[in-house]
Amino acid sequence: MTAAHEPDSGPPHAHLSEADLNQGRPIVFRNATVLTMDDAHHVYNGADVLISGDQIAAVGPKLEVPEGTLEIDGTGGIVMPGMIDTHRHMWQTAMRGYGADWTLTQYFVWNYLQWGKSFRPQDIYAGDLLSAIEAVDAGVTTSVDWSHNLHTIDHAEAAADALAEVPGRFVLAYGNIQAAPWEWSATPEFRAFVDRRFGGGGTDMLGFQMAFDVPPASPDFPGKGAFAVARELNVPVTTHAGVWKVTTDDGIRLMHEHGFMDERTVYVHAASLSTDSYQRIAATGGSVSLSTESEQSAGQGYPPTWKLRQHGIGVSLSMDTSVWWSADLFTAMRVTLSADRAREHLEAHGKDETVTHHKLRAEHVVDWATRSGAKALGLDALVGSIEPGKKADVVLVKNDASPAMFPLLNPYGHVVFQAQRGDVHTVVINGRVVKYNHRLLGIDLAKARQAVEQTVDYLKGVLGPQAWEEGMHPEIPETNVAENPYTYIDDDKSA
Ligand SMILES: [Zn+2]
Repeated sequence: MTAAHEPDSGPPHAHLSEADLNQGRPIVFRNATVLTMDDAHHVYNGADVLISGDQIAAVGPKLEVPEGTLEIDGTGGIVMPGMIDTHRHMWQTAMRGYGADWTLTQYFVWNYLQWGKSFRPQDIYAGDLLSAIEAVDAGVTTSVDWSHNLHTIDHAEAAADALAEVPGRFVLAYGNIQAAPWEWSATPEFRAFVDRRFGGGGTDMLGFQMAFDVPPASPDFPGKGAFAVARELNVPVTTHAGVWKVTTDDGIRLMHEHGFMDERTVYVHAASLSTDSYQRIAATGGSVSLSTESEQSAGQGYPPTWKLRQHGIGVSLSMDTSVWWSADLFTAMRVTLSADRAREHLEAHGKDETVTHHKLRAEHVVDWATRSGAKALGLDALVGSIEPGKKADVVLVKNDASPAMFPLLNPYGHVVFQAQRGDVHTVVINGRVVKYNHRLLGIDLAKARQAVEQTVDYLKGVLGPQAWEEGMHPEIPETNVAENPYTYIDDDKSA
């Protein structure tokens, strides 16, 4: 929807056209609350952010700007760094919402054992394209595509093509659930693909990681071959760790003993690990990508924020997959803060105690969704905060038509518990305005819709109507309602 937008000062109908916005003129956000997410977490009220070229040029009140600078009125809004998602299976967005009632077991059966192989390159492309657009629209300016269904190089090309087509910042995390990581990573085709598309490690707009998991130990650690390839290519590894009964402390120990844990490693979930594993992660400087909506409903383990805090492990946020969950980081921030507090209260009540002060604050989860994500991806020098010299990945959260956008008293709290993706007014990525006044610019949503429709039609045909319906509606276990003494009436006394 388009917000009514009549700023108190300035000319009426001061909307800028798409042609105005991307012709290389500097841009200034005026009179906003600015969450810089710099080292000191400076917050400015009534301040401006000037963007020149692909960089943030200045931050502060009443900035002098070059002649011809385009002005975007930030009155009543919050300017924050673009959000960063460190783990998103973007190909699965083609099946949005299908698995809402799945457990992790049902997800594995459907994707890994039964139907994942059915996805063609164009289906990977379709899901990635829609997911990339969805991310940008929600102010998620950097996304790691945890792309673990690249069972041919054509699939990988399709994923890279989709990410390159959308004007966001992406990292292709290459994976293939249809083969062992030490197999697919050893093929000459994989090497040739990396050379061709990501020679020298890629760019800051489209980077590269390797994505694979370490199943419970076999003593010879066959996974070491894949880690060795990552080391040789000098690319980070991202791995689902601490997934209940799937990836365990064994995997962490083997990685550590073989010297494959470092500060660039991103451990996804890390939800059911021992103290020993958290210590190994902390000592080697890696970080954890939390997908709280996922951990809460799929069953990897309770979102481990309170343990990560105890061990001083860095946290970034992610949404995992739209086959179940929402793909905006407002939701991720909200559920992560809530899960941490729920856990603290529950633990305290178990000891007959009362929590009087929360340890985790709204400010912390905003950091996790921005700055800490940049650190996890080794992009901290470029993005993650609003500081002069950094790349201009900037989001304006503002919606004059929304009764939930005022009063704006506690900006961190407002971002976490009040705002939502519909309030994302403007998104700038690498200096380019990709969304303005709640509308995407230069992005072909119709093309993504058509591609996804074709994928859904094709997959429905492959599965057939019965498997399609059964996949979406798993059986519900029987619930035995507990006996309740108050539901029985003693006839003698009631007379
Ligand atoms: Zn995942």
